[in-house]
Amino acid sequence: MKAAVIEKPGKISIKEIPYPKPGSDEVVIQVKNCGICGTDFHIYNGDYLGSYPIVPGHEISGIVVEVGPDVPGLKIGNRVTADPNIYCGACYFCRTNRPNHCQNWQALGVTRNGGFAEYIAVTYKNVYKIPDNMSFLDAAFIEPVSCIVYGLRRLKIISGDNVLIFGAGPIGMQMAQLVQHGNAASVTITDLNQARLKLAKKLGISKTVLSDDKLSQTLKRIAPLGFDVVIDATGVAKVAEMAVNFVKNTGKIMFFGVCPPEDKVMISPFEIYKRDLEIYGSYALCYTFYPALDLINNGALDVKSIVSNRVSLKDLPMVFKSKKFKNDSMKIMLEIRIY
Ligand SMILES: [Zn+2]
Ligand SMILES: [Zn+2]
Repeated sequence: MKAAVIEKPGKISIKEIPYPKPGSDEVVIQVKNCGICGTDFHIYNGDYLGSYPIVPGHEISGIVVEVGPDVPGLKIGNRVTADPNIYCGACYFCRTNRPNHCQNWQALGVTRNGGFAEYIAVTYKNVYKIPDNMSFLDAAFIEPVSCIVYGLRRLKIISGDNVLIFGAGPIGMQMAQLVQHGNAASVTITDLNQARLKLAKKLGISKTVLSDDKLSQTLKRIAPLGFDVVIDATGVAKVAEMAVNFVKNTGKIMFFGVCPPEDKVMISPFEIYKRDLEIYGSYALCYTFYPALDLINNGALDVKSIVSNRVSLKDLPMVFKSKKFKNDSMKIMLEIRIY
């Protein structure tokens, strides 16, 4: 079968690799869609945990085509998605219900072969059936949305909060829609890119602000006392650093975007203390696939509109090598057709 293989950082090609024989507790999924995400670019660039050679791709949807002998509840033909995170179930964090911090964590597309391939083998425990009326494209968004759901469940935005989100990329745009769908009084989103802000408006986000040299003044005008909640979805440390300037006293800040591990920001501990601020992280997801599926399937957010490019397997080397794709695109969606 064909797959996109990253042999080592900076080197990706389409290769013929062995079809994955299912283990006794595994199913083989014929991949239909697989979202391309920042993590895949990090793996390609060699600046994220990952082992090589690797088939990346962890936002998977497809059809079950083979079922191991010890798999309950799934059969050939089921339309499914899969949680890429594989937890040991035995370590301290797994046994205290925080498996996203599993000490023996593995993941499809990161440490094991993922979805940029015609087929993938997955343990049944990680497979979720999708409704008949849900498209494979929508289903490929369940994984990123479940990361957002995990973050929003931690944040606990309360009724009437005014929320600021830095970054109208795919993640910021999905998050803004979910916050808007919830009980926030207003959602303000910022970006350098006008086209993204236009899309945000179209998707119903209350306020859009261009990140130009007047950004601070504009945000101060919108919320003179600051926002109740400020979320960074850019993963740019310089932007994340600004969150403190725009949060209201007693407000919450969340670092959701993935900054380079070596980057640092300057924050005054005195200010955190004096202003009663709360700072949150949000790592991956934690059994949030079902709520994410429900949110997408019930139209709480429109994921289709944020797909800017649909590519096939053979396009992937070009997608990873060209900087243009990374900078100008919203969500890039891999579609796999078997010829
Ligand atoms: Zn991802
Ligand atoms: Zn564990």
